[in-house]
Amino acid sequence: MQRLLDGNKRLLSSQTLHTQTLDQIRRHATGQSPYAQVFGCADSRVPVEAIFDEDFGDVFVTRTAGNVLSEPTIGTIEYGVVALNTPLIMVLGHQSCGAVKAAVEAAKDPAKTPQGALGALVSALVPAAQQVADRGGDVYAAALEAHIRATVATLQGNPVLAGRITDGRLRVVGASYDLATAKVTVY
Ligand SMILES: [Zn+2]
Repeated sequence: MQRLLDGNKRLLSSQTLHTQTLDQIRRHATGQSPYAQVFGCADSRVPVEAIFDEDFGDVFVTRTAGNVLSEPTIGTIEYGVVALNTPLIMVLGHQSCGAVKAAVEAAKDPAKTPQGALGALVSALVPAAQQVADRGGDVYAAALEAHIRATVATLQGNPVLAGRITDGRLRVVGASYDLATAKVTVY
């Protein structure tokens, strides 16, 4: 996790090290051994490798709008652990997430739930929005944190991952990215 946070610090201080070169890309062509996994949001303003100043082959990344887990998504994360031995999964949400905002609105008024599969995605975020609905302050930030913490707990309870967590080979952490400052804060 320190390596991820160090990379984010380089970005914050405009001291990034990584620019993609064909030589580097070729070095990774025959296999991968990423040192961490990040489960992020699909938002175009949250590109994981850029946020952590990393490159091809460094981070195993899964992204869905609003960091919503599904069977194939969990399968992807399990692959990263079982086949690639990643010792860390960071669930990285971000402030001003459109999916979280939609869930806060849908929690207030279910008629505002979007149609189709997008509705299912937003509905998956509604419990976190309901959990914080009566709190004062920034309800969107609170809903995001509740959702990221719940997602971390779901992964920690995953039977494929649990044994590795118990014996110290795997850690799952939640974090939030600030769109305006580029800073990652671990919950
Ligand atoms: Zn988002």
